[in-house]
Amino acid sequence: MPTKTTALDRELARFVKSVYATTPAVKKIFDDAGVQPSRIKHVADLECVPVTTKDRLVEMQKESPPFGGFRNTKAKKLKHIFLSPGPLYEPHGAEKALVKTAGAVFRIAGFKRGDVAINTLSYHLVPAGLLLDAGLQAAGATVVPSGVGNTELQVKMMIDLKVTGYAGAPSFLMTIIKKAEEMGIDVKKSFTLHHTLFTAEPYPPSLRAQFEGTFGLKTLNVYATAELGFLAHDCSAQQGLHFVDSAVIEVCDPATGAHVKAGEAGQVVVTTFNETYPTIRLGTGDMAVYIDAPCACGRKSPRLMLVGRVGDAVKVRGMFVHPNQLKAAMAKFPAITRAQGIVTRPDNVRDDLTLKVELGQPVADQDKLAQEFSEAVKGLIRVSVDKVEFVPTIAADAKGIVDERKWE
Ligand SMILES: [Zn+2]
Repeated sequence: MPTKTTALDRELARFVKSVYATTPAVKKIFDDAGVQPSRIKHVADLECVPVTTKDRLVEMQKESPPFGGFRNTKAKKLKHIFLSPGPLYEPHGAEKALVKTAGAVFRIAGFKRGDVAINTLSYHLVPAGLLLDAGLQAAGATVVPSGVGNTELQVKMMIDLKVTGYAGAPSFLMTIIKKAEEMGIDVKKSFTLHHTLFTAEPYPPSLRAQFEGTFGLKTLNVYATAELGFLAHDCSAQQGLHFVDSAVIEVCDPATGAHVKAGEAGQVVVTTFNETYPTIRLGTGDMAVYIDAPCACGRKSPRLMLVGRVGDAVKVRGMFVHPNQLKAAMAKFPAITRAQGIVTRPDNVRDDLTLKVELGQPVADQDKLAQEFSEAVKGLIRVSVDKVEFVPTIAADAKGIVDERKWE
């Protein structure tokens, strides 16, 4: 039970009360679940409110077009309507909460007054470009809304406008750098780029090594979604992504919506304080491991480690396990080329987890490898492995975890 009420708890309680009264879909969700808005006093109390999945949101929009009842009837005139993947219509007004969060994260990335920043995310259909634009302005930067494509022009703007900041996908910055090199430009001498905020796609360590090592850039990786804006960002320790402090982020059992314990994987569920489009407990469909220990960087905020999409996860002995967690465990074992989890329930009571392992090279002590790999997997998924079977081959397109349990 929570011992003290934080500023986030207070903001949540106020927000729930306010949008219950003004947003038909929120009222319906609470009423259907028999939950009084006054019951929400702390983030922990949200567990009694059902999670709305993206699929459910799409259905609700079909039932009650265009916004599924999620438009706050008291919100002032809409400034924009976006179309996010789903497809989902999103009403946007003056989203102070989302812009404030984005601005704070841009400042963490090093953006400040005097910066000239190119914003390479799309400005049409999806809210990404405009949200980044507003966040950059909130941090004090001057924005060059360059969007995607036009790589030669992007190179020219980088140099002519003495651009110091970049916002967008990491791969596109590499495309710009490659184009500049093709044009015979010495990027390290001619670019004044200093810091970047990356989002919209994974930021692999190989790219990080090039940007931070070769080009000496300061980079920040941000987890964001179209509907919810900025949710978490990395840090110097690179041990997961820190929750932003101005949105309610929960990591939950995808089946029940209950909070998972530290070290366990669950769906990322988010409540932002978006007054125009208030979605309480929106399930992102992303799976992440929840980390609550203090970080080596000094921040005390909780963290998450993204592992993949919810649909691919399989529940084993009460714990959701994602195939990417097996892949992460494999990284420390170069001899293992493929691994696959097989879940059965031989005695109809307890789940059995067997790992099939394909080796790319002969291993002298297979028992030792089996034991070490089992321990590495257990360390990541919190479920012990019953046995490891070495098999000649695992198909490249085979599922990472196969559920062979029979439920009849
Ligand atoms: Zn940290």
